[in-house]
Amino acid sequence: MPKKLKIFALGGNEVSPSGKVDPLTGKQIIPDLPEQWRRTADTCKLLAEIIKEDQDDYFILTHGNGPQVGNIILRAEYSRPILHLLPLDVCDADTQGAMGYMLAQLTNNLAILNINRVVAETVTRVVVDQNDPDFANPSKFIGPAHLKEDALKIQSEEDHLMKFYKMNDQGEELWRWVVPSPNPIDILEIDVIYNNMKAGIIPIAVGGGGIPVKKVNYEISEGNEIYKCNYGITYSRKFVPGNKLNIYTGIEAVVDKDLATSLMGTMLLNKSKNNGEDLDVELIIFTDVDGAKLNYQKPDQKDLRHLTLNQVVELYEKNNFPAGSMGPKIKAAINFLRGGGKKVLITKSSLYQETLQGNAGTVIE
Ligand code: ADP
Ligand code: MG
Repeated sequence: MPKKLKIFALGGNEVSPSGKVDPLTGKQIIPDLPEQWRRTADTCKLLAEIIKEDQDDYFILTHGNGPQVGNIILRAEYSRPILHLLPLDVCDADTQGAMGYMLAQLTNNLAILNINRVVAETVTRVVVDQNDPDFANPSKFIGPAHLKEDALKIQSEEDHLMKFYKMNDQGEELWRWVVPSPNPIDILEIDVIYNNMKAGIIPIAVGGGGIPVKKVNYEISEGNEIYKCNYGITYSRKFVPGNKLNIYTGIEAVVDKDLATSLMGTMLLNKSKNNGEDLDVELIIFTDVDGAKLNYQKPDQKDLRHLTLNQVVELYEKNNFPAGSMGPKIKAAINFLRGGGKKVLITKSSLYQETLQGNAGTVIE
């Protein structure tokens, strides 16, 4: 019997309850830290019960970080007169640390069930292709919305590309910072994740899609290779023909967490294969909707309960799933199954058992 790896990708709602509205303004608000702790605790309790059922399996957790990064940027903007701003790669690293810390309370939920497993956050860097088309036309909105005039001021001061977002209730234009959302192509800490997994540890990895980095191409100067990284930091050595070094530097971009999670799954599968081990990998995407739907939020909306890879490819190619939400989940599922993954679940965490029984969520095999 092959070993099983279950990768749980936790959506924003699993760590920070969504749908909270300020009664005075009617606007969406981000819950405070105690509420995020409690929501994460609920999720961990559920995960511990799942782990209890299959204690011989491997488990890995990943999580989104959109609202948390939004908070960091907002805080930095308000303290601009006294403190430096934070670049996105550092925001990602910060949230991987803090959210990984909160999710590590899964150790407590396991201890209560007499299961002793270490849950360990890995600060993870994800490499993106520097020729990704999204660099030419950034698409991902980040941080708070501003009135147009303020947005253009920030654009000139911070070198942040701002784009029109939507109109507010007073009929004014709201603008937001946009960054590229390139495809992930490699994970630098994959061996750490793999070795921890093999040791029975439960890794938390590629949080928020990972910290985006790119490979640096060298320039030749006086017979030396010069690798130029951020903040004027350079690395150099004597030119060695045909032997480019792997030197990376952070970039201001966002990698979709479902795409990064899917890449991690296939990389772990390949590692296992190369080591002569048989591994069945499942990807379980927990989000705030009970599965992917056809004609979502239209009168003829239809549940998609069970799909084959071919069926899901056909639906995806007909643009049934929007970018930025269900689209990347479906693309992640396609990449994962093509890369040898066994099955993908898209569901609410509270409906996991029903989904396994075929009565809720979406299962793709
Ligand atoms: P997460 O934080 O879990 O990644 P997202 O907002 O990125 O959450 O994606 C989940 C959202 O996708 C759901 O809340 C739902 O509103 C939206 N969605 C868009 N299209 C569909 C669809 N076809 N079927 C189901 N949900 C969809
Ligand atoms: Mg998402």
